Amino acid sequence: MTTTPPPPAARLCAPEALIAELGLTTVLAVAAHPDDIDFGASGTIAALTDRGVDVALCLLTAGDAGGFDPGRSAEETARIRQAEQQAAAEVVGISEVVLLDERDGFVTVSDKLVGQLVRLMRQVRPEAVLSFHPERAWDRLQKSHPDHLAAGEAVVRAAYPYVENPFAYPELEAEGLAAFTIQHLLLMGAPQERVNLRVDVTGYQDQKLSALERHFSQHRDAERMRQFVGEQLQAVHRGGGYAEEFHHVIVNDPETISGF
Ligand SMILES: [Zn+2]
Repeated sequence: MTTTPPPPAARLCAPEALIAELGLTTVLAVAAHPDDIDFGASGTIAALTDRGVDVALCLLTAGDAGGFDPGRSAEETARIRQAEQQAAAEVVGISEVVLLDERDGFVTVSDKLVGQLVRLMRQVRPEAVLSFHPERAWDRLQKSHPDHLAAGEAVVRAAYPYVENPFAYPELEAEGLAAFTIQHLLLMGAPQERVNLRVDVTGYQDQKLSALERHFSQHRDAERMRQFVGEQLQAVHRGGGYAEEFHHVIVNDPETISGF
């Protein structure tokens, strides 16, 4: 495993500055598998929830194709991984974990999945959605599992245009889930040239590692994992602290002219 430092242009932002700049009160995180968010963003999530931001997590799959135990059934793996994710979520202050029914390893960007994400976004009404980047990172292909790319693509499509178009998924409007605009996307696992934001999570690194350790069934070598993640956070910070990196996309700001 190697770590590639982020491009110099990626600014380093303290959690309180990020909250103020993005006007964060509610964030929706969307991941493909249990443990994704803990690898990519749980330091940031811990820093946000610590300052009163509500963070909900949506998992597209129960992670039934993960782990290293060939004797375990997919149902048993799914049950274990859900319980692990719930425990990890509690460590970093996530308020709610919602599970969708995509098949692990075969997540597809379908009308149904995008519709489920639009429904959830309209229920939660976050200012920012945190998820995967839909573009493949060639520097470390493991960041770009096909389910991660599909999750990212479905989230980006839901965030624009469908969540803000009242004529998309009209059954949601009929249920009282009104169209609204997402302002920001925070995308993890981005190709290095897309990284434009580093969030300073110094002080939250142990919470992140502790959340990761809740995913016991996924770690063949927990100590090596701890070391790798710690080194990665330090490489991203570049100043002796710890940081996580994202591609920050402004979907809507006061000047945005929207159309479908
Ligand atoms: Zn994953």
